Amino acid sequence: MPRSRNTAPRRARRHPVRHARRQALVDYQLMIDSIQDYAVFLLDPRGKVLTWSQGARRLLGYTSAEIIGKNFSIFFSPADRRAGKPRQKLQQALTEKNSEDEHAMRRKNGSYFWTRGRNFPLWQSGKKLCGFVKIAHDITHHKQTDEQLKQSEERYRLVVENTSDVIQVLDIQGNYVYASPSHHRLLGHQPQALVGKNAFTLIHPDDLPTVQKKFTKAVHGKANNTTYRFRHKKGHYLTLEGTSTAIFNDEHQPYLVVSTAHDITARTELEQQKDAFIGIASHELKTPVTSLKAYTQMLQRRFLRRQDHEAALYLAKMDAQLNKLTNLISDLLDVTKIEAGRLLLHQELFDFDTLVKEIVDGIQLTTQHHRIIHHGSLGKKLYGDRDRIGQVLINLMTNALKYSPEADKIIVRVLGTKDAAVVMVQDFGIGISPKKQEKIFDRFFRVNDSRSNTFPGLGLGLFISAEIIKRQGGNIWVKSIAGKGSTFSFSLPLMPAPLARAVSPVSAPQPVRHG
Ligand code: ADP
Repeated sequence: MPRSRNTAPRRARRHPVRHARRQALVDYQLMIDSIQDYAVFLLDPRGKVLTWSQGARRLLGYTSAEIIGKNFSIFFSPADRRAGKPRQKLQQALTEKNSEDEHAMRRKNGSYFWTRGRNFPLWQSGKKLCGFVKIAHDITHHKQTDEQLKQSEERYRLVVENTSDVIQVLDIQGNYVYASPSHHRLLGHQPQALVGKNAFTLIHPDDLPTVQKKFTKAVHGKANNTTYRFRHKKGHYLTLEGTSTAIFNDEHQPYLVVSTAHDITARTELEQQKDAFIGIASHELKTPVTSLKAYTQMLQRRFLRRQDHEAALYLAKMDAQLNKLTNLISDLLDVTKIEAGRLLLHQELFDFDTLVKEIVDGIQLTTQHHRIIHHGSLGKKLYGDRDRIGQVLINLMTNALKYSPEADKIIVRVLGTKDAAVVMVQDFGIGISPKKQEKIFDRFFRVNDSRSNTFPGLGLGLFISAEIIKRQGGNIWVKSIAGKGSTFSFSLPLMPAPLARAVSPVSAPQPVRHG
Protein backbone atom coordinates (compact mmCIF):
# COMPACT_ATOMS: atom_id res chain seq x y z
CA MET A 1 0.00 0.00 0.00
CA PRO A 2 1.27 3.39 -1.00
CA ARG A 3 0.23 4.94 2.40
CA SER A 4 2.06 2.44 4.44
CA ARG A 5 4.92 2.55 2.03
CA ASN A 6 5.05 6.35 2.55
CA THR A 7 4.81 6.36 6.42
CA ALA A 8 7.67 4.02 7.03
CA PRO A 9 10.41 6.25 5.71
CA ARG A 10 8.78 9.29 7.44
CA ARG A 11 8.81 7.48 10.85
CA ALA A 12 12.28 6.37 10.15
CA ARG A 13 13.26 9.97 9.51
CA ARG A 14 11.59 11.20 12.79
CA HIS A 15 12.74 8.42 15.12
CA PRO A 16 16.47 9.05 15.03
CA VAL A 17 15.91 12.63 16.26
CA ARG A 18 13.53 11.63 19.07
CA HIS A 19 15.80 8.80 19.93
CA ALA A 20 18.80 11.12 20.04
CA ARG A 21 16.90 13.58 22.27
CA ARG A 22 15.78 10.83 24.63
CA GLN A 23 19.32 9.50 24.67
CA ALA A 24 20.65 13.01 25.41
CA LEU A 25 18.25 13.29 28.37
CA VAL A 26 19.35 9.91 29.67
CA ASP A 27 23.00 10.88 29.24
CA TYR A 28 22.38 14.23 30.93
CA GLN A 29 20.69 12.55 33.93
CA LEU A 30 23.49 10.00 34.09
CA MET A 31 26.03 12.78 34.02
CA ILE A 32 24.50 14.79 36.85
CA ASP A 33 23.83 11.63 38.88
CA SER A 34 27.48 10.71 38.62
CA ILE A 35 28.42 13.87 40.52
CA GLN A 36 27.95 12.10 43.82
CA ASP A 37 29.17 14.75 46.24
CA TYR A 38 27.04 17.49 44.70
CA ALA A 39 23.33 18.17 44.66
CA VAL A 40 22.29 19.41 41.19
CA PHE A 41 18.83 20.87 40.61
CA LEU A 42 17.13 22.14 37.47
CA LEU A 43 14.66 24.84 38.55
CA ASP A 44 12.09 26.77 36.57
CA PRO A 45 12.29 30.60 36.70
CA ARG A 46 10.23 30.67 39.94
CA GLY A 47 12.29 28.00 41.65
CA LYS A 48 10.14 24.94 41.01
CA VAL A 49 12.22 21.76 40.88
CA LEU A 50 12.05 20.26 37.38
CA THR A 51 14.61 17.59 37.94
CA TRP A 52 17.43 16.84 40.37
CA SER A 53 20.42 14.59 40.78
CA GLN A 54 20.94 11.40 42.73
CA GLY A 55 23.43 13.31 44.90
CA ALA A 56 20.64 15.74 45.84
CA ARG A 57 18.29 12.88 46.72
CA ARG A 58 20.96 11.29 48.85
CA LEU A 59 21.83 14.53 50.66
CA LEU A 60 18.23 15.62 51.28
CA GLY A 61 16.54 12.28 51.89
CA TYR A 62 13.39 12.83 49.71
CA THR A 63 12.20 10.68 46.84
CA SER A 64 11.91 12.33 43.42
CA ALA A 65 8.10 12.01 43.58
CA GLU A 66 8.10 14.10 46.76
CA ILE A 67 10.16 16.88 45.24
CA ILE A 68 9.68 17.23 41.50
CA GLY A 69 7.21 20.06 40.97
CA LYS A 70 7.79 21.56 44.47
CA ASN A 71 9.48 24.88 44.99
CA PHE A 72 13.09 24.59 46.09
CA SER A 73 12.25 26.80 49.09
CA ILE A 74 11.25 23.51 50.76
CA PHE A 75 14.99 23.09 51.46
CA PHE A 76 15.17 26.32 53.46
CA SER A 77 14.35 26.80 57.12
CA PRO A 78 10.98 28.38 57.92
CA ALA A 79 12.82 31.49 59.11
CA ASP A 80 14.77 31.77 55.84
CA ARG A 81 11.59 31.23 53.89
CA ARG A 82 9.84 33.98 55.84
CA ALA A 83 12.80 36.26 55.16
CA GLY A 84 12.44 35.56 51.42
CA LYS A 85 15.87 34.01 51.13
CA PRO A 86 15.03 31.47 48.36
CA ARG A 87 13.83 34.24 46.03
CA GLN A 88 16.83 36.42 46.97
CA LYS A 89 19.20 33.62 46.00
CA LEU A 90 17.71 33.35 42.51
CA GLN A 91 17.68 37.12 42.16
CA GLN A 92 21.33 37.20 43.16
CA ALA A 93 22.14 34.66 40.43
CA LEU A 94 20.68 37.07 37.88
CA THR A 95 22.50 40.15 39.11
CA GLU A 96 25.82 38.85 40.39
CA LYS A 97 28.05 36.89 38.08
CA ASN A 98 29.90 33.95 39.69
CA SER A 99 28.28 34.60 43.06
CA GLU A 100 29.05 31.83 45.51
CA ASP A 101 26.27 30.93 47.79
CA GLU A 102 26.42 29.44 51.28
CA HIS A 103 23.37 28.48 53.29
CA ALA A 104 21.86 25.79 55.49
CA MET A 105 19.63 23.22 53.71
CA ARG A 106 16.87 21.31 55.40
CA ARG A 107 16.62 17.55 54.98
CA LYS A 108 13.37 15.61 54.89
CA ASN A 109 13.95 14.54 58.51
CA GLY A 110 14.18 18.18 59.60
CA SER A 111 17.92 18.22 60.17
CA TYR A 112 20.11 20.85 58.50
CA PHE A 113 23.44 20.79 56.76
CA TRP A 114 25.61 23.56 55.37
CA THR A 115 26.04 23.86 51.61
CA ARG A 116 28.18 25.95 49.37
CA GLY A 117 27.37 26.27 45.66
CA ARG A 118 26.16 28.38 42.73
CA ASN A 119 22.92 29.19 40.97
CA PHE A 120 23.27 29.63 37.20
CA PRO A 121 20.48 31.32 35.21
CA LEU A 122 19.46 29.58 31.97
CA TRP A 123 18.61 31.91 29.08
CA GLN A 124 16.67 30.84 26.04
CA SER A 125 18.18 32.38 22.89
CA GLY A 126 20.23 34.53 25.25
CA LYS A 127 17.16 36.64 26.27
CA LYS A 128 14.33 34.75 27.91
CA LEU A 129 14.93 33.28 31.37
CA CYS A 130 13.90 29.67 31.33
CA GLY A 131 15.18 28.51 34.70
CA PHE A 132 18.20 27.93 36.92
CA VAL A 133 20.73 25.26 37.55
CA LYS A 134 21.53 25.03 41.25
CA ILE A 135 24.66 23.22 42.32
CA ALA A 136 25.51 22.72 46.01
CA HIS A 137 27.74 20.52 48.08
CA ASP A 138 27.80 19.59 51.72
CA ILE A 139 30.32 21.67 53.69
CA THR A 140 29.05 20.83 57.18
CA HIS A 141 32.31 19.12 58.02
CA HIS A 142 34.41 22.12 56.84
CA LYS A 143 32.08 24.46 58.66
CA GLN A 144 32.45 22.48 61.88
CA THR A 145 36.24 22.36 61.50
CA ASP A 146 36.29 26.11 60.73
CA GLU A 147 34.11 26.76 63.74
CA GLN A 148 36.32 24.60 65.99
CA LEU A 149 39.38 26.37 64.62
CA LYS A 150 37.78 29.75 65.22
CA GLN A 151 36.85 28.78 68.76
CA SER A 152 40.28 27.42 69.50
CA GLU A 153 41.91 30.56 68.01
CA GLU A 154 39.60 32.65 70.12
CA ARG A 155 40.58 30.71 73.23
CA TYR A 156 44.30 31.14 72.46
CA ARG A 157 43.76 34.82 71.70
CA LEU A 158 42.00 35.27 75.04
CA VAL A 159 44.79 33.47 76.89
CA VAL A 160 47.53 35.44 75.11
CA GLU A 161 45.77 38.78 75.54
CA ASN A 162 44.90 38.31 79.16
CA THR A 163 48.05 36.70 80.47
CA SER A 164 50.30 38.90 82.55
CA ASP A 165 53.28 37.13 80.95
CA VAL A 166 55.07 38.84 78.09
CA ILE A 167 54.87 36.74 74.91
CA GLN A 168 57.21 37.52 72.04
CA VAL A 169 57.46 35.81 68.68
CA LEU A 170 60.78 36.73 67.08
CA ASP A 171 62.44 35.77 63.84
CA ILE A 172 65.82 34.10 64.17
CA GLN A 173 67.59 37.49 64.04
CA GLY A 174 65.60 38.59 67.09
CA ASN A 175 63.17 40.90 65.25
CA TYR A 176 59.63 41.08 66.57
CA VAL A 177 57.04 39.21 64.52
CA TYR A 178 54.44 39.42 67.28
CA ALA A 179 54.29 41.14 70.68
CA SER A 180 51.52 40.33 73.16
CA PRO A 181 49.36 43.11 74.62
CA SER A 182 51.19 42.66 77.95
CA HIS A 183 54.07 44.57 76.33
CA HIS A 184 51.91 47.63 76.71
CA ARG A 185 50.50 46.85 80.15
CA LEU A 186 53.86 45.90 81.65
CA LEU A 187 56.55 47.53 79.54
CA GLY A 188 54.75 50.52 78.05
CA HIS A 189 55.41 49.52 74.42
CA GLN A 190 52.58 49.38 71.87
CA PRO A 191 52.75 45.80 70.52
CA GLN A 192 52.19 46.91 66.91
CA ALA A 193 55.04 49.43 67.15
CA LEU A 194 57.42 46.64 68.14
CA VAL A 195 56.78 44.48 65.08
CA GLY A 196 59.93 44.55 62.94
CA LYS A 197 62.03 46.06 65.76
CA ASN A 198 64.99 44.09 67.10
CA ALA A 199 64.29 42.83 70.63
CA PHE A 200 67.98 42.98 71.59
CA THR A 201 67.88 46.79 71.39
CA LEU A 202 65.61 46.74 74.46
CA ILE A 203 67.84 44.55 76.63
CA HIS A 204 70.13 46.08 79.27
CA PRO A 205 73.66 46.28 77.74
CA ASP A 206 75.14 44.30 80.68
CA ASP A 207 72.72 41.43 80.10
CA LEU A 208 72.94 41.48 76.31
CA PRO A 209 75.85 39.00 75.84
CA THR A 210 74.11 36.37 78.01
CA VAL A 211 70.75 36.95 76.33
CA GLN A 212 72.29 36.67 72.84
CA LYS A 213 74.14 33.50 73.82
CA LYS A 214 70.95 31.91 75.17
CA PHE A 215 68.98 33.06 72.11
CA THR A 216 71.49 31.35 69.80
CA LYS A 217 71.16 28.22 71.92
CA ALA A 218 67.36 28.38 71.57
CA VAL A 219 67.68 28.78 67.77
CA HIS A 220 69.74 25.58 67.81
CA GLY A 221 66.91 23.76 69.53
CA LYS A 222 67.99 24.11 73.16
CA ALA A 223 65.10 25.79 74.96
CA ASN A 224 66.43 27.68 77.98
CA ASN A 225 65.74 30.10 80.82
CA THR A 226 67.24 33.57 81.13
CA THR A 227 67.00 36.47 83.54
CA TYR A 228 67.49 39.87 81.95
CA ARG A 229 66.59 43.53 82.24
CA PHE A 230 64.20 44.91 79.63
CA ARG A 231 63.83 48.62 78.91
CA HIS A 232 60.43 50.13 79.69
CA LYS A 233 59.12 52.69 77.19
CA LYS A 234 59.82 55.35 79.84
CA GLY A 235 63.49 54.37 80.00
CA HIS A 236 63.79 52.42 83.25
CA TYR A 237 64.45 48.68 83.31
CA LEU A 238 62.31 45.78 84.57
CA THR A 239 63.82 42.41 85.43
CA LEU A 240 62.23 39.58 83.46
CA GLU A 241 62.69 35.86 83.73
CA GLY A 242 61.87 33.99 80.56
CA THR A 243 62.14 30.95 78.35
CA SER A 244 62.85 30.80 74.63
CA THR A 245 61.94 27.96 72.30
CA ALA A 246 62.55 27.71 68.56
CA ILE A 247 59.89 26.71 66.04
CA PHE A 248 61.10 24.58 63.13
CA ASN A 249 59.71 24.26 59.60
CA ASP A 250 59.19 21.00 57.68
CA GLU A 251 62.86 21.06 56.62
CA HIS A 252 63.83 21.16 60.32
CA GLN A 253 65.09 24.73 59.93
CA PRO A 254 64.36 27.14 62.79
CA TYR A 255 62.36 30.12 61.59
CA LEU A 256 60.81 31.60 64.72
CA VAL A 257 61.64 31.84 68.41
CA VAL A 258 58.83 32.06 70.92
CA SER A 259 59.80 33.72 74.20
CA THR A 260 57.65 34.03 77.27
CA ALA A 261 58.74 36.03 80.27
CA HIS A 262 57.36 37.31 83.54
CA ASP A 263 58.22 40.27 85.66
CA ILE A 264 60.45 39.45 88.63
CA THR A 265 61.51 43.04 89.38
CA ALA A 266 59.79 43.11 92.77
CA ARG A 267 61.19 39.70 93.70
CA THR A 268 64.69 40.68 92.59
CA GLU A 269 64.53 43.91 94.61
CA LEU A 270 63.36 41.94 97.63
CA GLU A 271 66.21 39.49 97.16
CA GLN A 272 68.66 42.37 96.90
CA GLN A 273 67.25 43.84 100.13
CA LYS A 274 67.50 40.42 101.77
CA ASP A 275 71.11 40.05 100.59
CA ALA A 276 71.89 43.54 101.84
CA PHE A 277 70.32 42.65 105.20
CA ILE A 278 72.30 39.39 105.43
CA GLY A 279 75.43 41.37 104.55
CA ILE A 280 74.83 44.00 107.25
CA ALA A 281 73.74 41.43 109.88
CA SER A 282 76.77 39.20 109.24
CA HIS A 283 79.06 42.20 109.35
CA GLU A 284 77.55 43.38 112.65
CA LEU A 285 77.79 39.87 114.11
CA LYS A 286 81.44 39.53 113.15
CA THR A 287 82.77 42.13 115.61
CA PRO A 288 81.14 40.78 118.85
CA VAL A 289 81.98 37.18 117.86
CA THR A 290 85.63 38.15 117.29
CA SER A 291 85.84 39.77 120.75
CA LEU A 292 84.05 36.80 122.36
CA LYS A 293 86.65 34.56 120.77
CA ALA A 294 89.52 36.72 122.01
CA TYR A 295 88.13 36.77 125.60
CA THR A 296 87.48 33.00 125.52
CA GLN A 297 91.06 32.29 124.48
CA MET A 298 92.39 34.71 127.10
CA LEU A 299 90.32 33.03 129.84
CA GLN A 300 91.34 29.58 128.58
CA ARG A 301 95.03 30.53 128.94
CA ARG A 302 94.37 31.98 132.44
CA PHE A 303 92.58 28.82 133.65
CA LEU A 304 95.33 26.64 132.25
CA ARG A 305 97.92 28.70 134.15
CA ARG A 306 95.84 28.08 137.31
CA GLN A 307 95.75 24.35 136.50
CA ASP A 308 91.93 24.46 136.25
CA HIS A 309 91.73 21.96 133.40
CA GLU A 310 87.99 21.44 133.65
CA ALA A 311 87.24 25.15 133.15
CA ALA A 312 89.86 25.29 130.34
CA LEU A 313 88.13 22.33 128.63
CA TYR A 314 84.74 24.08 128.73
CA LEU A 315 86.34 27.18 127.28
CA ALA A 316 87.97 25.10 124.50
CA LYS A 317 84.51 23.73 123.64
CA MET A 318 83.15 27.26 123.67
CA ASP A 319 85.99 28.32 121.37
CA ALA A 320 85.17 25.45 118.94
CA GLN A 321 81.50 26.59 118.81
CA LEU A 322 82.67 30.16 118.23
CA ASN A 323 84.75 28.86 115.29
CA LYS A 324 81.62 27.35 113.79
CA LEU A 325 79.79 30.64 114.27
CA THR A 326 82.68 32.53 112.64
CA ASN A 327 82.57 30.14 109.65
CA LEU A 328 78.82 30.61 109.23
CA ILE A 329 79.22 34.38 109.33
CA SER A 330 82.06 34.24 106.78
CA ASP A 331 79.92 32.08 104.46
CA LEU A 332 77.06 34.57 104.69
CA LEU A 333 79.41 37.46 104.01
CA ASP A 334 80.95 35.62 101.04
CA VAL A 335 77.53 34.98 99.54
CA THR A 336 76.54 38.63 99.78
CA LYS A 337 79.87 39.55 98.18
CA ILE A 338 79.26 37.07 95.33
CA GLU A 339 75.73 38.34 94.77
CA ALA A 340 76.94 41.93 94.68
CA GLY A 341 79.85 41.01 92.39
CA ARG A 342 82.35 42.06 95.06
CA LEU A 343 84.17 38.78 95.71
CA LEU A 344 87.71 39.82 94.92
CA LEU A 345 90.50 37.31 94.44
CA HIS A 346 94.11 37.97 95.38
CA GLN A 347 96.18 36.16 92.80
CA GLU A 348 99.68 34.97 93.70
CA LEU A 349 102.08 32.20 92.78
CA PHE A 350 101.98 29.53 95.51
CA ASP A 351 103.03 25.96 96.14
CA PHE A 352 99.88 23.89 95.67
CA ASP A 353 101.18 20.67 97.30
CA THR A 354 102.15 22.57 100.50
CA LEU A 355 98.66 24.08 100.70
CA VAL A 356 96.97 20.67 100.32
CA LYS A 357 99.27 19.13 102.94
CA GLU A 358 98.66 21.93 105.45
CA ILE A 359 94.91 21.52 105.06
CA VAL A 360 94.94 17.72 105.22
CA ASP A 361 97.08 17.86 108.40
CA GLY A 362 94.91 20.58 109.94
CA ILE A 363 91.66 18.73 109.31
CA GLN A 364 93.11 15.43 110.52
CA LEU A 365 93.60 17.12 113.91
CA THR A 366 89.85 17.81 114.13
CA THR A 367 88.71 14.19 113.73
CA GLN A 368 89.37 10.97 115.53
CA HIS A 369 86.82 8.91 113.59
CA HIS A 370 88.31 9.34 110.13
CA ARG A 371 91.72 8.74 108.67
CA ILE A 372 92.52 11.17 105.89
CA ILE A 373 94.47 9.41 103.16
CA HIS A 374 96.41 11.77 100.95
CA HIS A 375 97.58 10.52 97.53
CA GLY A 376 99.53 12.22 94.75
CA SER A 377 100.99 15.64 94.20
CA LEU A 378 101.17 18.32 91.55
CA GLY A 379 104.84 19.19 91.81
CA LYS A 380 104.23 22.65 90.42
CA LYS A 381 103.36 26.12 91.59
CA LEU A 382 99.92 27.49 90.86
CA TYR A 383 98.83 31.04 90.18
CA GLY A 384 95.65 31.89 92.06
CA ASP A 385 94.08 32.97 95.35
CA ARG A 386 95.73 30.62 97.86
CA ASP A 387 93.28 31.31 100.71
CA ARG A 388 90.17 30.98 98.57
CA ILE A 389 91.40 27.74 96.95
CA GLY A 390 92.21 26.48 100.47
CA GLN A 391 88.68 27.46 101.51
CA VAL A 392 87.26 25.21 98.74
CA LEU A 393 89.38 22.25 99.80
CA ILE A 394 88.41 22.74 103.46
CA ASN A 395 84.75 22.88 102.48
CA LEU A 396 84.92 19.66 100.43
CA MET A 397 86.87 17.84 103.16
CA THR A 398 84.66 18.98 106.05
CA ASN A 399 81.58 17.97 104.01
CA ALA A 400 83.20 14.57 103.32
CA LEU A 401 83.67 14.07 107.07
CA LYS A 402 80.23 15.46 107.98
CA TYR A 403 78.30 13.35 105.49
CA SER A 404 80.09 10.05 106.20
CA PRO A 405 79.64 9.63 109.98
CA GLU A 406 79.81 5.84 109.80
CA ALA A 407 82.91 5.63 107.59
CA ASP A 408 86.45 5.60 108.91
CA LYS A 409 88.34 7.28 106.10
CA ILE A 410 88.27 9.87 103.37
CA ILE A 411 90.67 9.99 100.43
CA VAL A 412 92.22 13.15 98.97
CA ARG A 413 93.87 12.69 95.56
CA VAL A 414 95.96 15.31 93.77
CA LEU A 415 97.07 14.93 90.17
CA GLY A 416 98.30 17.08 87.35
CA THR A 417 97.05 16.86 83.77
CA LYS A 418 98.65 18.61 80.78
CA ASP A 419 97.03 21.91 81.63
CA ALA A 420 95.29 21.56 85.02
CA ALA A 421 95.67 20.63 88.65
CA VAL A 422 92.95 18.24 89.80
CA VAL A 423 91.88 17.50 93.37
CA MET A 424 89.39 14.76 94.27
CA VAL A 425 87.88 14.32 97.72
CA GLN A 426 86.25 10.93 98.15
CA ASP A 427 84.06 9.82 101.02
CA PHE A 428 82.14 6.63 101.78
CA GLY A 429 79.09 8.26 103.29
CA ILE A 430 75.44 8.86 102.54
CA GLY A 431 75.96 9.87 98.88
CA ILE A 432 73.63 12.02 96.77
CA SER A 433 70.90 10.88 94.36
CA PRO A 434 71.45 11.87 90.66
CA LYS A 435 68.51 14.34 90.67
CA LYS A 436 69.90 16.24 93.69
CA GLN A 437 73.39 16.29 92.21
CA GLU A 438 72.15 18.72 89.53
CA LYS A 439 71.32 21.33 92.16
CA ILE A 440 74.04 20.70 94.67
CA PHE A 441 76.02 23.81 93.72
CA ASP A 442 72.98 26.14 93.96
CA ARG A 443 72.75 28.78 96.67
CA PHE A 444 71.03 27.55 99.87
CA PHE A 445 70.50 24.09 98.35
CA ARG A 446 70.47 21.29 100.88
CA VAL A 447 69.44 17.71 100.12
CA ASN A 448 66.10 17.38 101.77
CA ASP A 449 65.60 13.82 102.98
CA SER A 450 65.30 12.17 106.34
CA ARG A 451 69.00 11.25 106.32
CA SER A 452 70.46 14.60 105.28
CA ASN A 453 68.19 16.65 107.51
CA THR A 454 70.08 15.42 110.55
CA PHE A 455 73.24 17.31 109.47
CA PRO A 456 73.58 20.99 110.31
CA GLY A 457 74.42 23.53 107.60
CA LEU A 458 73.16 26.45 105.52
CA GLY A 459 73.70 25.04 102.02
CA LEU A 460 76.22 27.76 101.11
CA GLY A 461 79.62 26.03 101.12
CA LEU A 462 79.33 24.37 97.69
CA PHE A 463 77.82 27.49 96.13
CA ILE A 464 80.77 29.57 97.36
CA SER A 465 83.25 26.85 96.33
CA ALA A 466 81.79 26.65 92.82
CA GLU A 467 81.93 30.42 92.48
CA ILE A 468 85.56 30.57 93.60
CA ILE A 469 86.62 27.75 91.25
CA LYS A 470 84.72 29.27 88.35
CA ARG A 471 86.32 32.66 89.01
CA GLN A 472 89.74 30.94 88.94
CA GLY A 473 88.92 29.55 85.48
CA GLY A 474 88.43 26.00 86.77
CA ASN A 475 85.66 23.42 86.98
CA ILE A 476 83.97 21.69 89.90
CA TRP A 477 81.86 18.54 89.73
CA VAL A 478 80.53 15.63 91.72
CA LYS A 479 80.14 11.91 91.18
CA SER A 480 78.09 10.15 93.76
CA ILE A 481 76.06 7.03 94.48
CA ALA A 482 73.35 7.33 97.11
CA GLY A 483 74.22 5.15 100.10
CA LYS A 484 77.77 4.50 98.85
CA GLY A 485 79.56 7.84 98.92
CA SER A 486 80.60 10.85 96.88
CA THR A 487 83.65 12.21 95.12
CA PHE A 488 83.78 15.98 94.81
CA SER A 489 86.48 17.20 92.43
CA PHE A 490 87.78 20.46 91.12
CA SER A 491 90.33 21.41 88.52
CA LEU A 492 92.37 24.60 88.22
CA PRO A 493 94.22 25.78 85.14
CA LEU A 494 98.00 25.69 85.33
CA MET A 495 98.13 28.81 83.18
CA PRO A 496 97.66 32.06 85.10
CA ALA A 497 93.96 32.73 85.61
CA PRO A 498 92.63 36.16 84.66
CA LEU A 499 93.02 38.67 87.43
CA ALA A 500 90.17 39.19 89.86
CA ARG A 501 87.18 40.81 88.28
CA ALA A 502 83.69 41.43 89.45
CA VAL A 503 81.33 38.60 88.69
CA SER A 504 77.88 39.12 87.18
CA PRO A 505 75.29 38.67 89.92
CA VAL A 506 72.86 37.26 87.34
CA SER A 507 74.76 34.10 86.47
CA ALA A 508 74.77 31.22 88.92
CA PRO A 509 77.69 28.80 88.86
CA GLN A 510 77.18 25.74 86.72
CA PRO A 511 78.66 22.43 87.77
CA VAL A 512 80.71 21.46 84.78
CA ARG A 513 81.44 17.80 84.33
CA HIS A 514 84.98 17.11 83.45
CA GLY A 515 86.73 14.14 81.93
P1 ADP B 1 75.97 22.56 104.00
O1 ADP B 1 76.39 23.64 104.88
O2 ADP B 1 74.51 22.27 104.06
O3 ADP B 1 76.80 21.32 104.11
P2 ADP B 1 77.03 22.75 101.30
O4 ADP B 1 76.77 23.79 100.26
O5 ADP B 1 78.43 22.48 101.62
O6 ADP B 1 76.17 23.17 102.54
O7 ADP B 1 76.36 21.44 100.77
C1 ADP B 1 75.06 21.48 100.21
C2 ADP B 1 74.34 20.16 100.40
O8 ADP B 1 74.99 19.16 99.63
C3 ADP B 1 74.41 19.64 101.82
O9 ADP B 1 73.35 20.16 102.58
C4 ADP B 1 74.29 18.16 101.61
O10 ADP B 1 72.93 17.80 101.50
C5 ADP B 1 74.94 17.91 100.27
N1 ADP B 1 76.35 17.43 100.39
C6 ADP B 1 77.46 18.19 100.31
N2 ADP B 1 78.56 17.42 100.41
C7 ADP B 1 78.13 16.15 100.54
C8 ADP B 1 78.77 14.87 100.68
N3 ADP B 1 80.11 14.77 100.71
N4 ADP B 1 77.98 13.78 100.78
C9 ADP B 1 76.64 13.88 100.74
N5 ADP B 1 75.96 15.04 100.62
C10 ADP B 1 76.69 16.17 100.51
